[in-house]
Amino acid sequence: MAGYPVALSQDEFIRRVKKDSAWRAFILDSRQVSRGDVFFALQGERVNGHSYIPQAIEAGARAVVLQRHYFENHQQSLLEAAGLGEHCDESPLVLASELSEEHDTVVFVSVESPLECLQAAGAAVLAMSGGFRIGITGSNGKTGTKDLLASVLSRKGDCFSRKGNFNSVIGLPVLMAQVPVNTDYTVMEMAMSEKGEMETLSRLVRPNAALITNIGTAHIGNIGSREGIAEEKFQIFSSMTEDGVAVLPDDDPWAMKYLEEHPLQQRILYYGLGSRHGFSILAEDVGETVIAYQGGEFRLPFSGRHMLHNTAGVITLARQLGLSDSEIQEGLNGFQLPQGRGNIIRGHSLLIDDSYNANADSMAAAIEQAAQVAVERQLVLILGDMLELGDYSDEHHRDVLSRAMDAEPSAILLLGEYFSRAADHLGGAGLDPADSSGVHAAADIEELKGLCKSIIQSGSAILLKGSRGMELERIIPFLPGLE
Ligand code: ATP
Ligand code: MG
Repeated sequence: MAGYPVALSQDEFIRRVKKDSAWRAFILDSRQVSRGDVFFALQGERVNGHSYIPQAIEAGARAVVLQRHYFENHQQSLLEAAGLGEHCDESPLVLASELSEEHDTVVFVSVESPLECLQAAGAAVLAMSGGFRIGITGSNGKTGTKDLLASVLSRKGDCFSRKGNFNSVIGLPVLMAQVPVNTDYTVMEMAMSEKGEMETLSRLVRPNAALITNIGTAHIGNIGSREGIAEEKFQIFSSMTEDGVAVLPDDDPWAMKYLEEHPLQQRILYYGLGSRHGFSILAEDVGETVIAYQGGEFRLPFSGRHMLHNTAGVITLARQLGLSDSEIQEGLNGFQLPQGRGNIIRGHSLLIDDSYNANADSMAAAIEQAAQVAVERQLVLILGDMLELGDYSDEHHRDVLSRAMDAEPSAILLLGEYFSRAADHLGGAGLDPADSSGVHAAADIEELKGLCKSIIQSGSAILLKGSRGMELERIIPFLPGLE
């Protein structure tokens, strides 16, 4: 067994990944490893994946990608975990470029940076797929827009896209590794939370087209300013192909301002709800809208101004890619809003479940939608804190709360410290809950449940919205008229 190949270099690993699709199930959490997966030991802020290598091996990982110095310093215990303890003395280990297909021992991939190896491997598979690569970014609406575009493009060809949020410098490469060869279109959500990440994502994806939904204030705590956010989002075009198309909202002042100061080399298509696009709402109901856009007429299985905006972008790009209006309509028909993104749940009451996430812009959009939808019903806004806003937290919570009050709902129920402070600041707190009007800040989810029961009347129109961390969906079973 001397010279048994237990370690691969990054180049050898990527050759393997390109050659054999069985090597493309990339896993970052040892608890999710199944037999045959590739486990990447990443160094996170709180958790070091290297500590979980034995578990990944135990679960049947075919390969473990780890830092070279860790491998060298822990060779003995790693080989023991791999059941190769008797080879501990064979130092240095032989690096082999060809592995015997039959052997079922884990292989160590010893690299400078497991994260960079993950990114390079994902990019290598995506590049092999050969299809048209589309990136979607923006402060709000990325997932919804991606899913909508994928539903539309799948009427024309093989379209690869995944539900959910594989959108970061870590998550997206995992997804990229799964794109099959000969895919016609790959639609990817691209998100950043730190400066520099979008440039990295663009380099990995090399989009043929990229769309920005809006420039808002999500992650402003990390980036510092709205200009900074615009600059970062526009990095999606930094590695776009020369013949690529940028799809941009001309009704977003921050996007247009940035573009004016930093012209793009590539072709630009504009979209938006303005008259120059021939946009108008022809008919509107809860969860259904008919619009005119760029000379066509489209029936949408959703309502809400922000989704109409995103749809305009999708139609613009789909037409550019040669889809007919009837193909686009078929794609729109097949679309369902992802869970918690403004889905309408009907009982005696009517709930807009937007509990998936929130920031100041999406709060404003959702409050506007809820007020429209309410019509004759009593409007109740249940709002949870917006997280990750750093120094802007207090200002944004006050802004949102005063907008909420402007909508004149019959009640506003708040959960979280920031909203509670904002309520104190606006002098809205302390109103008598018994008069079922005004602003009520709950100290915790239990108190919120109680408030929902005592204040909300069955038959109300209810908006539920807060940051992911607030997990507002926990309240749904306790809402009157929806039990
Ligand atoms: P995340 O950053 O969490 O991945 P995302 O950008 O993928 O978010 P979605 O999950 O698609 O966004 O939508 C989240 C919410 O953003 C929606 O429920 C809606 O309230 C709001 N939203 C969607 N599009 C827009 C838009 N163009 N402008 C403002 N708000 C929007
Ligand atoms: Mg998303």
